[in-house]
Amino acid sequence: MPRVSISQVANAKDAEDLKCAICFQMPEDPRVVSCPAKHMFCNECFTRWVDKSGKICPQDRQRFTKMQNPTPNQSSTLKNTKYYCKHKRDGYKFVGTSEEVTKHEPVCPEAVVTCTVPNCDRSMKRKGLAAHNSNKKREHEQLKKKEICKLNADPYKALATGGKLEVFLEMKALRKSTWVEVEESSESSEDSEDSDDYDDSDEDEEGYWAY
Ligand SMILES: [Zn+2]
Ligand SMILES: [Zn+2]
Ligand SMILES: [Zn+2]
Ligand SMILES: [Zn+2]
Repeated sequence: MPRVSISQVANAKDAEDLKCAICFQMPEDPRVVSCPAKHMFCNECFTRWVDKSGKICPQDRQRFTKMQNPTPNQSSTLKNTKYYCKHKRDGYKFVGTSEEVTKHEPVCPEAVVTCTVPNCDRSMKRKGLAAHNSNKKREHEQLKKKEICKLNADPYKALATGGKLEVFLEMKALRKSTWVEVEESSESSEDSEDSDDYDDSDEDEEGYWAY
């Protein structure tokens, strides 16, 4: 499981009390040494420390005799520590345990995603994806058609340079028809950046295909 950064801990005191004094992050696979304060460290950090420095607590320099699992109290405090989503600075305030935040972040509405339509490649927040798909519907169709044209013209070269086979197969299956030619789009993707509304009325939608 990817690790949630200590900078996302919602309560600063939790971070201060629990952090590993070697890597200054929340302890991962935690181990506790038998010093009076029962200090807690990441297993990996701790193992490296002991190899180098011997049985001295990295935090208070007390000698210790053994390494233990966290106490039930330490375990439950760690497990219940609340974190903010890493996109919090963008205005969206999700708070949860490290497990919940780890699940949330990849699907966060504030996470930046890239449009998967071939050659579109625009990046935006996930919450803007639906609007993007509907605003660029016409342009997306053009881009998909261009991709198919490229694949048809020279399939090996197109695939070798990143052509999207899925698009080719998807469109082929969708429209069991014969490809003839593709017209150049009247707008390049560059200068259409801000024009979200396409007027489809005087362009022939079916003009690219022969049935
Ligand atoms: Zn550590
Ligand atoms: Zn200690
Ligand atoms: Zn979020
Ligand atoms: Zn797009």
